[in-house]
Amino acid sequence: MHPTAGPLSLASGDVTTSPPTAPAAERAEIGVLGGSGFYSWFSGASSGAREVPVETPFGPPSEVPLVGQVGGRSVAFIPRHGRDHRFPPHRLNYRANVWALRALGVRQVLAPCAVGSMLPELGPGSLVVPDQVVDRTWGREHTVYGGTGPVVHVAFADPYCPRGRAAAVASAVDAGWPPRDGGTLVVINGPRFSTRAESRWHAALGGHIVGMTGMPEASIARELALCYTSVAVVTDLDAGFEAGEGVTHADVMSTFGRSVERLKGVLAATVAALPSDDACSCRHALDGIPLPFDRP
Ligand SMILES: [Zn+2]
Repeated sequence: MHPTAGPLSLASGDVTTSPPTAPAAERAEIGVLGGSGFYSWFSGASSGAREVPVETPFGPPSEVPLVGQVGGRSVAFIPRHGRDHRFPPHRLNYRANVWALRALGVRQVLAPCAVGSMLPELGPGSLVVPDQVVDRTWGREHTVYGGTGPVVHVAFADPYCPRGRAAAVASAVDAGWPPRDGGTLVVINGPRFSTRAESRWHAALGGHIVGMTGMPEASIARELALCYTSVAVVTDLDAGFEAGEGVTHADVMSTFGRSVERLKGVLAATVAALPSDDACSCRHALDGIPLPFDRP
C-alpha cells in the first residue's frame, strides 16, 4: 500500500531514494482539516509554513498540506474542499486527506465545520462540540480497509476524542464563546440541503445539528488510530425548524464568514491545549488487530 521506493544506485554508493522519515520541519503532531476560509488563517497564524507533498495509496489529498508552527506546536493543515473550494462534500477524498495527515506524523486532528441546527435555541453563530454522529451519507469511499485481507472492525461507539473535545470546549469558554458541550451531528450526503420532512426526521432520531463533511472523515481517522475532534459552527436553522423560505447557500456563507474569525482564535488556543501523549483510547483503536498494511 506504500509507494515503492526507488532503486539504490549501488555503483556510485549514492542513495537515490527519499529518506524514510521526513525532516523535522516537515513533520506535524496536530492536523487541521478546515474550510477554505482557514487557509489564510493558517498561513498567517503559523510560522515557517511550507508545503509538504505527501503521497497516499488513495491518491492526492485535497491540497498539498501546509506544515508550520502554531502556538509552539507543529501543525499540518489541509483545506478540506481545496484552496478554491472546488471539491463538494460528496467528492472529497476523505481517505487521502486523513492518511496524508497521519503520514506527516499527525496524531490529533481538529475538524472545524459549518452545520445547520435542529434546536431552535441553538441559533446561527452558536458553537457545538459534538460527542455523537449519525452517518446518513452514501456512495463515498468510507474505509481504508476496503480490500480483501484481514478484516478490520474498529470501535466507534464514541466517535470523537474525549481529550480533544475537552480542550476545544475549554478554549471556547476562555474565548467568551461558550459552546454546547456535546450533541449529535447528522451527516447528510449533500450537496443539497434537507427537506423539512428530512430535517424533522433527523431531529426525531436524536440529531441536534446537521452537516455534510463529518463522515466518513471521523471514522477514517479512527480507522487510522487518530484522535479526532469536530468543532461545529451553526450557520442556520435547518429546514424543519425555521419559518421562512428555507436555508440558502448565501445565508450559510454569510453567517459562516462572520463566525470564522472567532473560530480561528478558538482553534489556535485548542491547538496549544491539546495533549501530546498517547494516553487516549483513540490512539489504541487498532491495538491487537492484524492489519492488511502498515500504517504510515
Ligand atoms: Zn483521543
